[in-house]
Amino acid sequence: PVILGIESTCDETAAAVVRGTTLVSNIVASSMEEHARYGGVIPEIASRAHAEAFVPVVSRALADANMDLSDIDAIAVSAGPGLAGCLAVGVSGAKSLAWAANKPIYGINHVIGHVSVTQLQFGALPENTMALIVSGGHTSLLHIDDIARSIEVVGTTLDDAAGECFDKVARLLGFPYPGGPHIDRHARLGDPTALKVPMGLTQGRAGAEHPYDFSFSGVKTAVARWVEGRRADGKDIPVDDVCASLAQSVASVLSRKAIDACRSRGSDTLIVGGGFSANSQLREHLAEAGREAGVDVRIPEIKLCTDNGAMVAMLGSNLVTAGVAPSSPDFPIDSAMPLDSISMA
Ligand code: ATP
Ligand code: MG
Ligand code: FE
Repeated sequence: PVILGIESTCDETAAAVVRGTTLVSNIVASSMEEHARYGGVIPEIASRAHAEAFVPVVSRALADANMDLSDIDAIAVSAGPGLAGCLAVGVSGAKSLAWAANKPIYGINHVIGHVSVTQLQFGALPENTMALIVSGGHTSLLHIDDIARSIEVVGTTLDDAAGECFDKVARLLGFPYPGGPHIDRHARLGDPTALKVPMGLTQGRAGAEHPYDFSFSGVKTAVARWVEGRRADGKDIPVDDVCASLAQSVASVLSRKAIDACRSRGSDTLIVGGGFSANSQLREHLAEAGREAGVDVRIPEIKLCTDNGAMVAMLGSNLVTAGVAPSSPDFPIDSAMPLDSISMA
């Protein structure tokens, strides 16, 4: 099927056309720079930017594909999770297009889109796949047999997401938002053993019962205390070492738990997605852990890791191919859409 995918959950307005598992066009506009001086995404500014970018971005995605709406089999749009005002712009725009062109519409789960998108680079998902989704808003381990029909949440963060933890430490060190990429760059220059950073959560919230949950707020607090203590003593901050120690702690917990989760289910494929999967320390840790464990680790190129329309279109393509019914024409947005909900009824 030919699917137009539309994304507006946070600060990217994006649209893409996918045919089957082939990416035909992919356009992303970001309002990230407008938020930088506030130190985080301002929902009002982001929604307004979506309203301005929606028509140009969608038109460009269709034009790049040499198509108009009549060539599309279905429209897919992120219905959640995300910022309500942002979701509302993309979803109402997509509904208008679907109505005008008389096409079915799928309101899909953005986070599951981060899993789906890997098919554009690596081909179809095998049965019994594990997925690690890491971004500014999510840190989750998902088990998938059929991406169009059922998702099992194996683990999730109990507090901060990995990207959020990096962004908060980055802010403390004086880097502009989003700070994750700055930590990554400095971490490459530092000594990862310089600071003792706690290893996130090694047990689950109920010990052995939930062994694949994460917790990063203690990591953030430990680094903050260390940095503030040195500042109070009038000592300078070895920024590269702080970044390297933080990155080492977070990357090793994420990769260890992801590979353990694969082992526990007998999964030999691990899909990795979300903006934080751009992190080079995580990529290195996962590549090595995957090699040792005999797990095929699939991390897509960075432009497919961060928010985009291709991920939405690809999940739409999976749903159409599987014969899943479209969403009702008046489906609502769900800013807290649960991870086991793949698309809106
Ligand atoms: P959602 O959680 O809904 O998917 P999001 O907008 O936070 O939303 P992404 O755009 O997928 O998700 O990810 C952005 C996050 O990824 C930010 O926290 C950013 O700091 C982090 N990030 C991006 N590149 C890197 C990197 N190289 N190293 C560490 N963190 C990174
Ligand atoms: Mg973003
Ligand atoms: Fe995302």
